[in-house]
Amino acid sequence: MERTLSIVKPDGVSKNLIGEVIKRFEENGLKVVGLKMISMDKKEAEGFYAVHRGKPFFESLTTFMSSGPSVVMVLEGEGAISKTRELMGATDPKQAKEGTLRCQFATNIERNVVHGSDGPETAAFEIGYFFNALEIFSP
Ligand code: UDP
Ligand code: MG
Repeated sequence: MERTLSIVKPDGVSKNLIGEVIKRFEENGLKVVGLKMISMDKKEAEGFYAVHRGKPFFESLTTFMSSGPSVVMVLEGEGAISKTRELMGATDPKQAKEGTLRCQFATNIERNVVHGSDGPETAAFEIGYFFNALEIFSP
């Protein structure tokens, strides 16, 4: 069983989309095995997005991600990483397929409602960034 890390970003939380995002994942066979609301400070957001340090959007992205609470979750299921990313849609909502979370709810390429890990190594790093073993409930 594969695991991935997803986040309802601060824009998603403020638009009351926590339930909508979780429902979409659950309806598509993903199991929520870890869940919490957090509020990242700037340093924590910078650490989470360390792979993007130096990119033109890094400063604005990490300010946005530390602007309010987020909901972080660990999802488990067959092909959880790619399934989550499919349900999210492309980073830029203008490119996102119809019916995806980002197509439906994102404001712009930065405020795009939801995060999902992009591969097994990033998933392991990102899950460990927010959860310890005792906070993940898997049969
Ligand atoms: N982002 C942005 N401008 C860009 C590219 C990305 O503001 O040109 C933000 C956006 O919030 C995105 C996050 O940075 O979700 C991480 O970028 P990545 O390329 O990893 O996209 P994702 O994996 O989230 O689809
Ligand atoms: Mg990414």
